[in-house]
Amino acid sequence: MVEKNIKNIDEIILFAIEKISQINKLLLWNIVKTEKISPIQIQFIDYINKMPLEATTVSNLAEEFELKKSTVSDSVNSLINKGYLERIQDHNDKRVFYFKLTEKTKEKLGILNKKNDIFRNIIKNYSFEQKEEVVKFFLDLMNELYEEKIIQPAKMCLTCNNFIKDYNPGDSKPHYCKLINKYVSIDEIKIHCNSYTKKSEGNL
Ligand code: SF4
Repeated sequence: MVEKNIKNIDEIILFAIEKISQINKLLLWNIVKTEKISPIQIQFIDYINKMPLEATTVSNLAEEFELKKSTVSDSVNSLINKGYLERIQDHNDKRVFYFKLTEKTKEKLGILNKKNDIFRNIIKNYSFEQKEEVVKFFLDLMNELYEEKIIQPAKMCLTCNNFIKDYNPGDSKPHYCKLINKYVSIDEIKIHCNSYTKKSEGNL
């Protein structure tokens, strides 16, 4: 029997994750160099570019980047004044504001979005089953990193107090959300859920 080189395959996975994460950093850094904005501001722009509108509040940005709300507000206001962002008021709650990119910013991010399109075109060629395995792997990896306190929790099911993992093992919808009282399959796991409730320390 051929002995499997587990150590090497682990190193290859680590290398691939680091390599892919570098692409974004390099592209973002090139924009920072040509525009008069700070590295954190370009990260806000990148976040707002990727997230649904309802996730783009000052509170969410502060939580995501571990900053004070006042720091985020100053930074975002400066981006609005320079024409990089627009402020959108919530229809139902006039106290809530979201942010979206201006056309000027979308143009500047062209190369970033082109990169995402290239990724999407490659990813769509894989079977659902292959992608499901990859999603399981990355969700578990993010969860472990969260439990080790290496990353902040994304507002996703796996780190949510309402989530019961493997409630129905072996089923096509093995997980369960107590809030919506619904069984959940791996492709239904949410990563930007407005009803997310952070787990308490003892509940990890
Ligand atoms: S509340 Fe949202 S994040 Fe939490 S388990 Fe339910 S669907 Fe997932």
